[in-house]
Amino acid sequence: MYANFITRLNDAFLGTDRKQRLRITRSLMAANVFVACSFLAGYACFTGFMAASDLTYLTSTIAVNIVGWYLFLRTGLNQRFEDPAMTLPQIMSALTIIAGAYAVTGPVHGSTLMLLALVLVFGIFNMKPKGAKIAGGYTVVLMGITIAIKTQTDPLNYPLKLEIAHFVLTAAIVPTISSLAAQLSSLRMKLQAQKDELANALVRIQILATRDELTGLLNRRHMLEVMKQHSKRLERSGHHPFCLALLDIDHFKRVNDTHGHGVGDEVLRNFARIVQSGLRDTDVLARWGGEEFLVLLNDTAPELANLGLERARQLLDEATLVPALPTLKPTFSAGLTAYNDLEALDVAIERADRALYKAKDGGRNCTVIHPKQVS
Ligand code: GH3
Ligand code: MG
Ligand code: MG
Repeated sequence: MYANFITRLNDAFLGTDRKQRLRITRSLMAANVFVACSFLAGYACFTGFMAASDLTYLTSTIAVNIVGWYLFLRTGLNQRFEDPAMTLPQIMSALTIIAGAYAVTGPVHGSTLMLLALVLVFGIFNMKPKGAKIAGGYTVVLMGITIAIKTQTDPLNYPLKLEIAHFVLTAAIVPTISSLAAQLSSLRMKLQAQKDELANALVRIQILATRDELTGLLNRRHMLEVMKQHSKRLERSGHHPFCLALLDIDHFKRVNDTHGHGVGDEVLRNFARIVQSGLRDTDVLARWGGEEFLVLLNDTAPELANLGLERARQLLDEATLVPALPTLKPTFSAGLTAYNDLEALDVAIERADRALYKAKDGGRNCTVIHPKQVS
């Protein structure tokens, strides 16, 4: 009940979008710097080094800044920008306020320098290299101007000799932090690029490992896995009987010998595409090797499975496989058999192979069905 209440409160305050929540939390965490800044200003005021009006002015600017960024992020306005985390603008506004605090905290202003460094450190985790450099350059220029003005308007609290030291310190430390941030950022970007490259390579390797490069069909190794899965499913459930068919293109050697290997490859590619389109979506076609193909015909008995093969044969007859050679009409012979429950896959494939040889013997361009063997 209590936990539920807290969750709801959190959802109301931070929203439910994971990324937006992270951005809001980060912005509020950075607000700690401002709390430190307010304490310092409060101390300066308490000890009489700072006017009460300046304290009010500074703390209300800080409050407006924190609430302003919270509302900007919570309403989702940030999502319209290229960097929805709004890191650089948030850092720039924080740096500006700290420069303001430097200008109004009188004799204790030196302490605010540390806060400048802290704000830049926040940027290390999120900024792009360019953003880190912009933030560093902006800080040095801003502090240069603030110091120049204060040494003129309040030389008692901002003596020139001390301020020169402050400026030198700022000009040395700030660029170091921002270049460190830039280096880390480019390292992060490189790592991200490497990660993407690896992910792409993995996808490619998976394709290479399971697909035949020429036809895009499943390769022999992967087809064996698929057949194993089907036989296990049949074994377990007793349902989903399937058939196997071995297809072999007739006189394919002649195609190669007469028209060249390139035409042969084109025939293989288009043959695969056309046969696939004649089969059912649930049937699986694989390149078994050379100009031989293996089909797994799902949830069917051989007589019905043969309808699919005949449909493919018909489509092949109607199609032009090589546009430059319209009279080239390769046919195929096939051996078809039902897979018997519990038998080794090799045995069924061997049976389909024997039927295929019968089809070749019988004059080609036909399918021979091997009768189911009763074990
Ligand atoms: P049959 O009707 O008895 O099957 O005769 P066939 O000429 O098709 O049989 P054979 O096994 O003698 O020839 C198969 C040919 O397939 C030989 C081989 O060069 C060719 N082949 C195998 N793989 C490829 C390939 O990837 N590309 C090309 N272009 N040809 C291939
Ligand atoms: Mg062959
Ligand atoms: Mg052949």
